[in-house]
Amino acid sequence: AQRLKGGLSESATIARFGGDEFVIMLPQLDYDEDTAAELAMDIAASITDMISVPVQIGRNLIHCSTSIGLTTFPQPQDTSSQVLRRADTALYRTKADGRNGFRFFDVSMQRQAQSRWQLEEGLHKAIERNQLELWLQPQVTNGGVISGAEVLLRWRHPERGMVSPVEFISVAEESGQISVIEEWVLEESLRLLCHWQQQGLPKTFRHLSINISPAHFMQADFIQRVLPILERYQLKGINIEFEITENLLINNFKHAKETMLHLQEQGVSFSVDDFGTGYSSLRYLNQLPINVLKIDRSFVSNITTLEDQTPIVDVILLMAKKLNLEVIAEGVETSVQKQLLDDRGCRLYQGYFYSKPLHYRDFFSQLKS
Ligand code: C2E
Ligand code: CA
Ligand code: CA
Ligand code: CA
Repeated sequence: AQRLKGGLSESATIARFGGDEFVIMLPQLDYDEDTAAELAMDIAASITDMISVPVQIGRNLIHCSTSIGLTTFPQPQDTSSQVLRRADTALYRTKADGRNGFRFFDVSMQRQAQSRWQLEEGLHKAIERNQLELWLQPQVTNGGVISGAEVLLRWRHPERGMVSPVEFISVAEESGQISVIEEWVLEESLRLLCHWQQQGLPKTFRHLSINISPAHFMQADFIQRVLPILERYQLKGINIEFEITENLLINNFKHAKETMLHLQEQGVSFSVDDFGTGYSSLRYLNQLPINVLKIDRSFVSNITTLEDQTPIVDVILLMAKKLNLEVIAEGVETSVQKQLLDDRGCRLYQGYFYSKPLHYRDFFSQLKS
């Protein structure tokens, strides 16, 4: 702090803010944003000078960098803690954007930070308050028979209405809530299936797919937590499939393989979700107990418009045939797409052309009718 002070005006206040953070307040200056930005860059440069030499710790070379969040004050009704919170929010944005730089606070940042924080808070209570719901999307054979379904989670938020899983799954992954949530999904799905079986399920309905986040799958105790749930329900003739992504398989090949083999023994099968969008590798396809490839919607939606996307689908189908894997096309929206995929040898479909995801009750009534 002393060294920094040297370069700043007399009236500047510098305070250590805990850990490796400093607050610098420059009062009574008519800074426009450009001047403030210039000053921020000067400060960053002088700090970087002090810390720029990488530090060797064991075998690792540690590089340090400076991240700055900027805000102006006073604004109406400012308290010091509001000023600090604005600067802090901007600082976290700088870090989220890749560190080593600065960002000005703006109101949208606050809304985003708040909304994220509120989602995280709300998620804690969502299960016990019965706000999470299972929706199911049919998986259909080329002959038009519903042979299974994918479970898609929905959050019926008291104020926001339906929150998309795209939004809250990532929050749950970062906050560590994902395991509890997905174990709830698994348990509820199995409970539903058991109940439906007692009421009479069509014999053609053979399997249920459940999405498993890498953050959950990679937990050291994943198997110990999931197996008891699977064992609690005696499902006859229905196959439980976990959908995982290919990046998970590549980045953690050994751990993934052990986990998959173990679960396979207990009757779980695996599909690769969003296939073709990650680092598709022949090695893992060959060496892991995978049953199904799900062709990503981006390939399917291009099928009628972009000629040069079709070879990818052809290659996936050919490869799957050679490796004895099933293929399901995701996001099929039109009969033309379905027909073209049929012609290329695809046999399983999921998409709005057949049905959007349905609330589990509506799904069951449709299945029985
Ligand atoms: P996903 O696993 O790739 O699921 C397919 C998504 O595509 C679903 O969106 C589905 O509603 C949508 N979709 C299906 N058919 C069509 C179609 O014909 N056209 C279009 N435009 N979209 C279609 P949804 O339900 O919003 O889920 C989004 C993502 O959220 C899922 O992508 C999945 O990654 C994640 N998700 C949902 N539930 C769970 C869960 O329980 N656990 C985890 N880890 N992720 C979940
Ligand atoms: Ca810090
Ligand atoms: Ca999926
Ligand atoms: Ca997918």
